[in-house]
Amino acid sequence: MRYSALQILKQGLTGNKGWKPVWREPEPKPAYDIIIIGGGGHGLATAYYLAREFGMTNIAVLEKGWIGSGNVGRNTTIIRSNYMLPGNQPFYEQSLKLWEGLEQDFNYNAMISQRSILNLFHSDPQRDAFVRRANAMILSGADAELATADDLRRELPFLDFDNARFPIKGGLFQRRGGTVRHDAVAWGFARGADMRGVDIIQNCEVTGFEINNGVCSGVKTTRGPIRASKIAVCVAGSSGRVMAQAGMRLPIETHVLQAFVTEGLKPVLPGVITFGAGHFYVSQSDKGGLVFGGDIDGYNSYAQRGNLPVVEDVAEGGMAIMPMIGRARLLRSWGGVMDMSMDGSPFIDKTDIDGLYFNGGWCYGGFKATPASGFCYAHLLAHDRPHPNATEFRLDRFKRGHIIDEKGVGAQPNLH
Ligand SMILES: Cc1cc2nc3c(=O)[nH]c(=O)nc-3n(C[C@H](O)[C@H](O)[C@H](O)COP(=O)(O)OP(=O)(O)OC[C@H]3O[C@@H](n4cnc5c(N)ncnc54)[C@H](O)[C@@H]3O)c2cc1C
Repeated sequence: MRYSALQILKQGLTGNKGWKPVWREPEPKPAYDIIIIGGGGHGLATAYYLAREFGMTNIAVLEKGWIGSGNVGRNTTIIRSNYMLPGNQPFYEQSLKLWEGLEQDFNYNAMISQRSILNLFHSDPQRDAFVRRANAMILSGADAELATADDLRRELPFLDFDNARFPIKGGLFQRRGGTVRHDAVAWGFARGADMRGVDIIQNCEVTGFEINNGVCSGVKTTRGPIRASKIAVCVAGSSGRVMAQAGMRLPIETHVLQAFVTEGLKPVLPGVITFGAGHFYVSQSDKGGLVFGGDIDGYNSYAQRGNLPVVEDVAEGGMAIMPMIGRARLLRSWGGVMDMSMDGSPFIDKTDIDGLYFNGGWCYGGFKATPASGFCYAHLLAHDRPHPNATEFRLDRFKRGHIIDEKGVGAQPNLH
């Protein structure tokens, strides 16, 4: 069923009785051409583009919980392509371009809102670093705009420009950045994949792999064994656990990241704002709540809940740039488990086991990457060679010395 204004009118006049479930609930078949493990944003996007772009539809997406239960439904919804390094920038710009046409493409309202993102800077050296980043972005076709403190005083008068410790000296805007309703992305991709014949199987946990003589030919699941000639792992924060079942150890640690939402306020924040001297990012949802977050919890964990020291740290970051946030009441908070890679950049690659592919290491920036990650992973699965925008996301890049250290902080997941 296609969604349209006419369809709303028709259903409205006939008692809204004709709406169909957004996707089917099929029983797993004994075998598929491709199995995708993980029904998060990236897994569903991969299935969608495999079907839409590469005409492959004998595919199952196996999800241990329900669609949207992972990070795709837990993030702070920010999209942007303000990256600097050659391995990253074209990929994230491809993703932003895919976001721009996505709702028409998959015929689903994902509330994509290009309301802008602003990265504040607080010192002269930081301004230099942001100018360099802006130039790299413009050179590779993205948009970037530098704002002085005076520009920002006019646009965002509530910021604390004269904070004694972190004075605001200006900021880097990406006007095409913004926010997207996170779980609608999962539902939209799931619907689009299902419409093309992909089986989306919820409550089906993968518990092991069928690997013989270096070839992977299927998976063991809580709903029985399923065979496939290609198995595509795409489980974000569970990457370490799942790949351990195939005997692989990854350059990834899992940490918790928390998110916070206040009571609904009148419109006050026009776009996304990030603090440059600590870790804090905030936007305002369409319902009015301020949605914000900061650093990961510093210890390894697979629990989807965080601890109090980070709550305090995030609140301090907010107070440093916009003291008015101290008047808002916090309504909700939650945590998600992040697949933190050692250089802060992801992997989309074949493994040394024939038929087994891996997508992960998204840290806390994988939501914005969802469309391009799906597209590039689908390309790899269909052609057995990387998409031109994802050639650097290799599992062996640490061995080769070709790390993609966007932040320049080295192999420290807690700093990325
Ligand atoms: C609090 C928070 C804020 C964030 N903010 C942003 C942001 O503003 N912008 C941004 O770009 N990114 C953000 N991120 C990161 C982003 O959400 C993730 O990088 C991205 O969602 C990960 O990809 P995914 O959607 O495929 O993951 P998930 O939705 O986690 O999907 C993985 C799926 O695999 C399933 N799975 C695991 N093990 C198995 C198994 N054995 N068998 C079957 N299924 C399995 C899980 O149940 C899960 O549904 C944030 C994350 C969090 C937690």
